[in-house]
Amino acid sequence: MASTDGWTTPAHKALRVRHGFDLAAFDRGSTPGFDGDKTTGRRLMAKRGVVLSELQERLFAGGRTGGTRSMLLVLQGMDTAGKGGIVRHVVGQVDPQGVAMRSFGVPTEEELAHHYLWRIRAALPRPGYLGVFDRSHYEDVLVVRVEDLVPRAVWEPRYDEINAFEAEIVAAGTPVVKVALVVSLEEQTKRLKERIERPDKHWKYNPDDIDARAKWPRYQEAYQAVLDRTSTDVAPWYVVPADRKWYARSAVTELLVHALEGIAPQWPAADFDPAVELRRLAASRAGS
Ligand code: ADP
Repeated sequence: MASTDGWTTPAHKALRVRHGFDLAAFDRGSTPGFDGDKTTGRRLMAKRGVVLSELQERLFAGGRTGGTRSMLLVLQGMDTAGKGGIVRHVVGQVDPQGVAMRSFGVPTEEELAHHYLWRIRAALPRPGYLGVFDRSHYEDVLVVRVEDLVPRAVWEPRYDEINAFEAEIVAAGTPVVKVALVVSLEEQTKRLKERIERPDKHWKYNPDDIDARAKWPRYQEAYQAVLDRTSTDVAPWYVVPADRKWYARSAVTELLVHALEGIAPQWPAADFDPAVELRRLAASRAGS
């Protein structure tokens, strides 16, 4: 691989939402910060996956030995944006023992009886874990806003409330990596068609997804509001163009590596004397 192939601007810089970000003008087939093709992207991701895996194992080891740090990946995106692919191909690069995966669908009756953050708090990763939210509290200002599930007076204050909530999580030792996977309407059409045509994809198809397309502009507006109002210094949003799956997956791998490097998890020190234990091992006999 030529040294110029790959990330020329780190993903956390190339994809971070800046003031004035315009979602409507965002090129969903672009590859910000990356100079290379699909083959290069995939090869590089596999290499970086090894780094990610070791960092995550250190985090997990820390959690097993009194460490308090954890990490949270929040995935948002329209249907077919590739959230499932990120879980499978990016998160799938690390040891599943250390992953706390949670999908958020339509709230249950019990969940609806509580504050909307109740189910989110309950799902936050414990020390050592990489928590992954497939959809999240952001649905409470996305689908809830677009579908008028509660009045504006109820969802409007949620942006500030979410910022305060996330600041609390970060301050408690859990960086929050927020990824908005942004797919184009054309690419969504292709992906939905595939789900309708291919028997091995039927299980992913939901006829309601077609109805949601009619509300595409309203969803884009709701996403724009999320990016405008909840991309904070402590928990910024990263907007990832999702028309090229290989790019999106490589980008999220980079974002996770960067966030874990920020924690810099170390292998825990032994709470025993290795020399003593080696002597004991050598002297030990099964059954004696
Ligand atoms: P996915 O579409 O991610 O594969 P599902 O088919 O289970 O998963 O869809 C989850 C659905 O739950 C989505 O339509 C989403 O908008 C909806 N949902 C998630 N959170 C909420 C919420 N707080 N209020 C209402 N609907 C929600």
